[in-house]
Amino acid sequence: MGAERSYGRTPADMRPVEIETGFVRTADGSALISVGETRVICTASIQEEVPRWMRGRGTGWVTAEYAMLPASTGERKERDSKRGRPDGRSIEIQRLIGRALRVVVDFAALGERAVWVDCDVLQADGGTRCASITGAYVALHEALSGLVESGDMKELPFSDTVAALSVGVVDGEALCDLDYSEDSRAEVDANVVMTGSGGLVEVQATAEQTPLSRASLDELLALAEAGIADLRTLQLEATGA
Ligand code: UDP
Repeated sequence: MGAERSYGRTPADMRPVEIETGFVRTADGSALISVGETRVICTASIQEEVPRWMRGRGTGWVTAEYAMLPASTGERKERDSKRGRPDGRSIEIQRLIGRALRVVVDFAALGERAVWVDCDVLQADGGTRCASITGAYVALHEALSGLVESGDMKELPFSDTVAALSVGVVDGEALCDLDYSEDSRAEVDANVVMTGSGGLVEVQATAEQTPLSRASLDELLALAEAGIADLRTLQLEATGA
């Protein structure tokens, strides 16, 4: 057995998750998601036009940005604007968030408009990219629901929900939803993005020292799948679906 887990969790447990919608009044859609001590503000802003290269096709676009607020980590993280160059990790993460959301959105049904989804980490304790994806879906849903209510869109353009969870191997044991103390000493670390109906969207798995066996990968995916099913329930509650 490894070290005791936060919140007295068993290996298969996620941290407590809360999703508060309408957190940012000035955004078309927003959600504050807490996964244990990790907290991310997700907003969705609708723009009634698409990037130039997409114009005239009648289809829309969803794009995402991600950043960690300076005080979200133990040591103050300098803002990109001050550093004068974007953080490679943030770019990688925001592309992942965008890809995840685009899998469940029908662009023809969205119409010729773009949605900007912004994920800003308020407090980081591991799993910020996964929390961002789970919260971003809720913010996007809230923004697009507004268009349906105002009669600007016939129906919601979602084919499914999408959520993400980190899983990993720590001290030889497969664990669901790693916090920072677990993540920092994990032998294997994986971020799993899945639709609510269980379709895999993206798996980022990295073995630090010992290569990962196929059987262990299956075990980790099963842990993620069970957790993501619970996240879907929370997302449906949050969106009133
Ligand atoms: N972290 C940090 N500063 C950074 C990047 C990461 O303190 O510049 C911490 C933070 O707690 C984060 C964790 O390391 O949640 C794991 O980072 P990783 O890059 O694996 O992404 P995440 O697990 O947050 O998606």
